[in-house]
Amino acid sequence: MEPPMMEPKMMEPTMMKALAVFPGRPNSVHLTQMKKPSLNEVAETRGVLVKVLRVGVDGTDKEINAAEYGAAPEGFDFLVIGHESFGRIEEVGAGVTEFSPGDYVVATVRRPGFSIYDQIGLQDMTTDDSYFERGINLRHGYLAEYYVDHPDYLIKIPRGLKHVAVLLEPMTVVEKGIAQAHEIQRRMKVWRPRKAAVMGAGTIGLLAALALRLRGLDVTVFSRSRKPSRNAELIEQTGAKYVSTQDTSILDKTGSGGPFDLILEATGSSPVVFESMQALAKNGVLVLSSITGGDRKIEIPADRINLDFVLGNKVMVGTVNAAREHFEEGVRDMAKAEAEYPGWLEQLLTHPVKGLENYEQLFQLLLDAKGAIKVFCEVADE
Ligand code: BGC
Ligand code: ZN
Repeated sequence: MEPPMMEPKMMEPTMMKALAVFPGRPNSVHLTQMKKPSLNEVAETRGVLVKVLRVGVDGTDKEINAAEYGAAPEGFDFLVIGHESFGRIEEVGAGVTEFSPGDYVVATVRRPGFSIYDQIGLQDMTTDDSYFERGINLRHGYLAEYYVDHPDYLIKIPRGLKHVAVLLEPMTVVEKGIAQAHEIQRRMKVWRPRKAAVMGAGTIGLLAALALRLRGLDVTVFSRSRKPSRNAELIEQTGAKYVSTQDTSILDKTGSGGPFDLILEATGSSPVVFESMQALAKNGVLVLSSITGGDRKIEIPADRINLDFVLGNKVMVGTVNAAREHFEEGVRDMAKAEAEYPGWLEQLLTHPVKGLENYEQLFQLLLDAKGAIKVFCEVADE
């Protein structure tokens, strides 16, 4: 008898859909087909295959599609985008003990480069000139049907948080900012911040207000728009105050509620940084997280700002990306938020887009959806 013919299909590698850009070419976001990743891409049978369920998009994706940011991995002319992930494990290599199929996970974004910080797992603190970030720079991202990664870069999500876990990556920006402030303030021996300000009421500003309220601080959020708005309501639901800078300046000594022991700046507007410096209390910390690609120049009261910083022992610190511990702290805070303010986090998930093939709608919403807090792709159902 003749041997059975092998199905031709089985000889081809399994393919999957993904969203990619051609870095350097504006508006090049497109749906592509690529090889589905396999477990053996990770050494020593430590691979984890994750089925992608949801991926959020933000300003960084906007800039990547505008060709202002981002680079393709070596050997590719395209970059798979998406860095705010959430998925379910489908398969694990024999050497994986931390996870099992069925577990929900969120992946970290940055991968180690070469500096001493990268070597101890603090690639978010790299001093290398170029860095590796999945979905952003030199590494493919998560807007695909599947990805494979090492367990060191995966964070387990409790089942009870799976409906909001796509917010974890943005939450880590806040977690790292707060953790850095506390780390720096160990110089004070007894730092007990009471008043905090958050500059900006976008996704990061909202999550910052939440995290600071969970820590019992008296929180004021400054934003341009006047009430009423969904963002202002959400902020007030946490017990934080919402102030429109059209009515009250950050520098208003009586109306603003300042000076503040801790300020998190997340407006995306660099002039706000210099106003924030002037609203900082003695021994206070100002944490900067806005990515400002422009080339703006402004006039500032330099002598006064400097004098107050010197006489008040003040600190200003920049923060980018996040380490594993900040993802873990983010999970704990999201669990606390669900207990303290049930349903609050879910209200941030304003604009779902079903399916990778609807990428044009995804980017349209990202560019101009009114009242959007988080635009995200529902890549697959469970
Ligand atoms: C991401 C960070 C990243 C930063 C700079 C942000 O949008 O959330 O993970 O480090 O962009 O590329
Ligand atoms: Zn981001």
